[in-house]
Amino acid sequence: MTGDSAGWSFASARGPARFAAAEHRRSPEAEHAMGAHATLCGIPAKQIVAYRHHFRISGARACPRCSERAAAAPTVTCGQERLHDKVLTAVPSPLRTRLLNALRNGAPIAIWINGPADGVAVYAHLDHITDGAEAVKDLLATHDPIGVARVAQPSGEFIVLLPQHTDPVIAWANRPVTWWRTLVRGVTSVASAIVGKTAAGTKQ
Ligand SMILES: [Zn+2]
Repeated sequence: MTGDSAGWSFASARGPARFAAAEHRRSPEAEHAMGAHATLCGIPAKQIVAYRHHFRISGARACPRCSERAAAAPTVTCGQERLHDKVLTAVPSPLRTRLLNALRNGAPIAIWINGPADGVAVYAHLDHITDGAEAVKDLLATHDPIGVARVAQPSGEFIVLLPQHTDPVIAWANRPVTWWRTLVRGVTSVASAIVGKTAAGTKQ
């Protein structure tokens, strides 16, 4: 679509699998990679403490077997592909088509956050939505778990709501910076008017 997206594809954007870092309760000197129920080298989950940071293959304390298995793990899909696949279940609309095309071209995902609807509502930029605001407002008025993603475009952004049990909802928001620029322009003209008046006053 643009020169920036040339050569970009879901396949080329796949990344290495990432694992949480973990330590054995009794021998915390080594760092392991946490899998679903055990570390990649086989220590059961009940014997380990998992951390919020990612396991680093090249870390000084990295367990060699975990490093080897983490390096050999299949690559994972990029955020654009994961969001694209979720949006496929949304009701077809021109907005959905534009969003799917943008994601296929690697449009940046500014944020993708999950939480209770009323807690993550602030991330939906509701005040700037120009298309689809009503449906977004209704979904965000609850306390139900929901995902909110924003996909950046030069002229604005797609707002995607991902409820747990119903289809995704897509809205469009104008870029807040447009409002900011208008505000700055307004302030500048007011400032010029004041300066003009003062100058005129000094002259008298
Ligand atoms: Zn290990």
